[in-house]
Amino acid sequence: MDEELKRLKSEAIEGLRNIIQEKDLEELRVKYLGRKGLFTGLMRNLGKASPEDRPRLGKLANEIKQDLEKQFTETQSKISSAGLSSVSESEDLSLPGRYIPFGKLHPVTQIMNEVCSIFEGLGFAVAEGPDVELDFYNFEALNIPKHHPARDMHDTFYIDESLLLRTHTSPMQIRAMEKQEPPLRMIAPGKVYRCDSDITHTPMFHQVEGFLVDKKVSFADLKGVLSVFCQKMFDEKIALRFRPSFFPFTEPSAEVDIGCVICGGDGCRVCKQTGWLEILGAGMIDPEVFKMVGYDSELYSGFAFGLGVERIAMLKYGIDDIRLFYENDIRFLSQF
Ligand SMILES: [Zn+2]
Repeated sequence: MDEELKRLKSEAIEGLRNIIQEKDLEELRVKYLGRKGLFTGLMRNLGKASPEDRPRLGKLANEIKQDLEKQFTETQSKISSAGLSSVSESEDLSLPGRYIPFGKLHPVTQIMNEVCSIFEGLGFAVAEGPDVELDFYNFEALNIPKHHPARDMHDTFYIDESLLLRTHTSPMQIRAMEKQEPPLRMIAPGKVYRCDSDITHTPMFHQVEGFLVDKKVSFADLKGVLSVFCQKMFDEKIALRFRPSFFPFTEPSAEVDIGCVICGGDGCRVCKQTGWLEILGAGMIDPEVFKMVGYDSELYSGFAFGLGVERIAMLKYGIDDIRLFYENDIRFLSQF
């Protein structure tokens, strides 16, 4: 037993001398000192020794074990410090790290998120609908029958007779009202498409549609909601004006202007010297639209509005060409 203990000890120490990697050191530790290791196995056999030898052997075994553990720890720290010094010889740890640029949301996405969060704060739910839409939802159900002159305003991309790329987000009014009884309070953000391209128009742009239906909803409610929105989006003291307008699906209809954010109302190139900027269209939902979805227009009333997201982004950031948003010039986009 004495011999065996001593033999294992010298074997283990011999092994330690050749170790240069942490992985190998761990393997050796398991081989000798692990729960099923050689040394541990031997210590278990101590019970078989004669009673007079047992105390002496126990003491010897413990000494050897402690000694071995100490030597393992020393080898471990030798390996660690050797590792560090080899790094500092070949690499300069004081060099600055590589620069990884942060990505950003597109300015249009940022404005869209901001619009949505303002209306969510007013209790509106967010709904999304398909970009490829049926003629029925885009026109018919919104009181724009075939051959109605209002279709001319839309420059529609048709896919076939009954299918098209939606020209506005208003179809979501119909889709939502078909599914749900009043009260309804919703906004529908998304892409819309029109065959038009110049300094203020792109073939694809973004709109946010909003509508509210309940008992006794009046034009005053519409003005209140839009005022809060403009104040939060632009400025607490922003001026607001409603001009009579026409949309087939609202009656009465209005276009909404804000006081020019560039010149403060004095008149400039952007507001064409009027001091006002148009930002959205709105109105009270036409009873004909309610008829299409089976709402009782004697009982319920509601308002709807639609705003162009790019338009708001242009006014807010003072951008004079809408096409800049879609040229993907990173120098332009990274400013927002
Ligand atoms: Zn102006």
